Amino acid sequence: MNPKIERFLREQKPETPCLVVDLSVVKKNYHKIRRELPLADVYYAVKANPAPDILKLLVGLGSYFDAASGGEIGQCLAAGAKADRISYGNVIKKERDIAEAFSHGVRLFAFDSEAELLKLAAAAPGSQVYCRILVPNQGADWPLSRKFGCDLEMARDLMIRARDLGLQAYGISFHVGSQQHDAHQWDVALARTAMVFTDLRNAGIELKMVNLGGGFPVQYRDAPGKAELPSFKAFAAAIMKGMTRHFGNDLPRMLIEPGRAIAAEAGVIETEVVLIARKSYDDPLRWVYLDVGMFGGLAETMNESIQYAFRTPADGRAESPVAIAGPTCDGVDILYEKAGYTLPVDLKIGDRVQVLRAGAYTTTYSSVGFNGFPPLKEHYI
Ligand SMILES: *Cc1c(COP(=O)(O)O)cnc(C)c1O
Repeated sequence: MNPKIERFLREQKPETPCLVVDLSVVKKNYHKIRRELPLADVYYAVKANPAPDILKLLVGLGSYFDAASGGEIGQCLAAGAKADRISYGNVIKKERDIAEAFSHGVRLFAFDSEAELLKLAAAAPGSQVYCRILVPNQGADWPLSRKFGCDLEMARDLMIRARDLGLQAYGISFHVGSQQHDAHQWDVALARTAMVFTDLRNAGIELKMVNLGGGFPVQYRDAPGKAELPSFKAFAAAIMKGMTRHFGNDLPRMLIEPGRAIAAEAGVIETEVVLIARKSYDDPLRWVYLDVGMFGGLAETMNESIQYAFRTPADGRAESPVAIAGPTCDGVDILYEKAGYTLPVDLKIGDRVQVLRAGAYTTTYSSVGFNGFPPLKEHYI
């Protein structure tokens, strides 16, 4: 548990549920990524946590930004980011949003289809564009599926088309899936990326950039039988090995788009136990209902995909099996039923329980007021 957040919680007793973020951890994570992978420009994936305090801090540290919408671009600009440090990385954009980004000075755009490329040619003439390719998402706890990217043949054709439309055919991007455990997945994706580079060189187009996406994982729950994750350093080493293997000495510009790896570890959600109950007299399983759930910000517990670690005032004492659920009247508002969670037998109604490493993908996932529960409150310290 982060001592600065612990002190804040003890002294301020903020109303629950709330997220408390220690900005010094955001800074530490940014520096670690820069140190371990110095050749890559860091484009923070704004969707992980777009809080002004985080964006302003990252602007000050010299970060670039990966934005997905006019809203996120506006948040970056408001935090002081220069438009030439923003990539409009969503491959699904309205033409008027592209035009607005262009009018603010954004000149770097992603696409993965012909129709999107035509929008870019019309609304962002002359801009640098990069094509997102499909890559396997094996090994990711939060895969991004077939929704994004196109195959290699199409990517090659579209990049030629981009040049013919007067755009700058700039590079290739991929995303190996969020919370990716397997560093080898970057090598698989880089092999595919290099094939497109070669094909395009033969067509007279020299691509200049590889966008390696995000996906760098965070150690959430230490469950028995769950392997320790490799460090960021190990991912960085695997990436550099893949880069030299597939591109030789003449490396293109490298971009990475970490979201989770920058924001998650910096935040703790403070919650309160609302109810502890059993379903029958002889059922050993306790149901623990917290005042935060799937609709209060913990949407990544969907399918029990992201398994957060919890801290309680009774830690260290005997534990027994629990299901953990949120406070709303929706049946899907269950955090964990099958993932084998246990909590202390002494846990009581009214106890404050902390959800650790919850600084990414929580506040903006929180509903605006389902069942009358307000959105997750936030404190940046
Ligand atoms: C969500 C997203 C990211 C960030 O992914 P993390 O797994 O949080 O690092 C990066 N790039 C794109 C295009 C994304 O959609």
